[in-house]
This record gives sequence, C-alpha cells and structure tokens, in this order.
Amino acid sequence: MTQANPVATPPDIQTMLARLIALPSVSSASPEWDQSNAAVINLLEEWLQPLGFRTEVLPVPGRDGKFNLVATLGSGPGGLVLSGHTDTVPYDPSRWQSDPFTLTERDDRWYGLGTCDMKGFFALAIEAARELAGKKLKQPLILLATADEESSMDGARALAEAGYPKARYAVIGEPTNLRPIRMHKGIMMERLAFEGQSGHSSNPALGRNALEGMHQAMSELLALRADWQARYRNPAFEVAVPTLNLGCIHGGDNPNRICRRCELHFDLRPLPGMAMTELREAILERLQPLARARQLDLTFEPLFDGVPPFETAADAELVKACEALTGHRAEAVAFATEAPWLQKLGMETLVLGPGSIDQAHQPDEFLALSQVAPTVTLLRQLIQRFCLE
Ligand SMILES: [Zn+2]
Repeated sequence: MTQANPVATPPDIQTMLARLIALPSVSSASPEWDQSNAAVINLLEEWLQPLGFRTEVLPVPGRDGKFNLVATLGSGPGGLVLSGHTDTVPYDPSRWQSDPFTLTERDDRWYGLGTCDMKGFFALAIEAARELAGKKLKQPLILLATADEESSMDGARALAEAGYPKARYAVIGEPTNLRPIRMHKGIMMERLAFEGQSGHSSNPALGRNALEGMHQAMSELLALRADWQARYRNPAFEVAVPTLNLGCIHGGDNPNRICRRCELHFDLRPLPGMAMTELREAILERLQPLARARQLDLTFEPLFDGVPPFETAADAELVKACEALTGHRAEAVAFATEAPWLQKLGMETLVLGPGSIDQAHQPDEFLALSQVAPTVTLLRQLIQRFCLE
C-alpha cells in the first residue's frame, strides 16, 4: 500500500539553522572530542529530497561515523556545486554567553556553534534551491556536504580520491563576508627527529649528540626559508612570502649527558605554485647529509597530510561572475579550505560565503542577520547563471 506523503518542504531558514546547530558534529584530531556527522547529513538529506534532489551518503573510507553527502538536482556534465563542511571545531561552553547548540537571536545576530562556520551556509543554500523544485535545469545543481574539514580534511580528500562528484564550477561557502576568494596558502605541519647516542658529557666521543644535529638542522631550515622567501612572493597575500615557523622542540634530559634524542615540530605555509612534495624533498636534501655526517637516525614526516595551496585564475569565468555579482575583486585569505580538492576534481573553484572568519572558531560565534538575504539572492543568481541559462 502506498501512502501519500504530506508535502514535506524544508522549514524556514531560521528553523533549518536552529536544527542544524542543535546537532553536535565536532571534528577533532583528539578522540575525546571527535564526533560523527551522520545526524547533520541525514537532516540535510531529509530537506533536500522533497525538493527533488537525488541524495547519496558516502562513508569516508577508514573513518567510522564520517560521511559526505552529494545531493544532485538535474543532470549533465557541467553544473554548479555549492559546498560546505558539516563539522565544527570543539567548543568551551563556559566561554559562551548562550548555549552553543541553541540558536539564539541577539543584536541582529544569530549565535550558535557553526552559525557562520558553516552550517548557516547550508540553510541559505537550501533556501536558494527551494524555488527550483519542479523546474527543468540545463545543468545540475549539486549540494555537497563534507566531513572533517576542521580536522583531517578527510572528507574532501576522499571525494578527490574517488573522483566524485564532477561539475564545472564550485563555490565553497566558508565565511568570507560575501567577498570572493580565489587564493589561499597551503598548510604543512612536519615532524623532524634525530636519534643519536647518549654518553657522559666529559667525552664527546662517547655519544652522538642529537641536539647539536638539530641545531644545525634548524640553521638549514632557516636558510631554506630565506631562499624560498627570496624566490616566491605574492602581493595578494597579507604575508606576501611563504612562511616556516619553528614551533616546538623537545630533546635531552641533563646538562651533563650527551643528548640522545631531539624532536622539532614546524609549520610551513606555501604560496600557490609551491608543491608540497617538492618542499619536503628540498628539506630532506638538506637534512640527510648532516644526519649522515653526525651518524644520527633521521625521521622526517608530516604531522598531518597537509592542505595544498589554492589558486583559481583571475580571469576564470566563475571568478568574473562572482566579482560582478558581489561588486568585490577576488582576494586571497590566510586560512585554508577544501578548495584544492574540489579543484582536483576538475572544478573551477571559489570560496564565497556569509559571515566573518573573525567569528569562526570563537566563543559566541554568530552570523549577522544582514548577511542572510544577500546570500540567498547571490546564490539564486549563481544558480540562475550556471544551472538555468
Ligand atoms: Zn569552515
């Protein structure tokens, strides 16, 4: 027996956002914080299906409880992806004025964890897509919701590896105050360790000093940094050169013992055009000879897989369209996004969304109500341009 479903259209924007915010979906490299994003994915699916979207929930390989959602309206090889991440950063409720999981309106703002970074974007994208129900699209509209952007970026990485979904254009709705962003630096975090041999400090011949090896390695890293900063410069960025930060170091235990082991963690922010594998090779090329000469065992490995730098050409069609619609020239930002992986899928990619990155990852995160209607209008214009015309 078939039962006629009542017409289940999605609720209004505020209700959608309130329900998304109410579902905790923290992602974190710390297991005590990390949560599944399944509830958020299921709720988006529940709203998108009645609008005619075909939904696919894709488990992220090797990651229990983590899913990507691909929701497609229409069909064809081109089309537009509106992309966001379903996870939030961890939070400290004692630093919030209101409950992070209860959408709270105050001072013409919606407060809640994920309001601007970036569950709000989903509510606005669904609102923009609402009027498409029953319409014939020339090119598909794909709503993409990913897992783990705030931690491992495994969701976007899995999509890139699977080669799915494909489309012609992608807009990632990270908070940019509705300004188009076509560039960001990459992020690499690396671990370097030397292992030598301890011995009494009175006779250096008794051991192999890892700390002295590290001293030399740090000089090499700073020399490499100077070299990269002389060769690479992009004035679109506030910090126009690639950076390398020596972040923390641990080694040794006693002034009168030869240091057996020393470990350094550092962070690298490459500019667009600098390939992460080449940077790692250049580092190893400098470190291997000194480790050999000092008979130190060398370990050099990433602390996480890294985010590649991202750039879409200034004259790309999507860039031009978004500049015209927003009245702002496309810029560069200091934070990283899933853009490099969407680009890897062959899409012209841009970052453009409501809210400010200043409020992201902060207590009392909010989305200004003044950004709500302009975002829906902008998304409708993009859908019109890339899916309907
Ligand atoms: Zn974000």
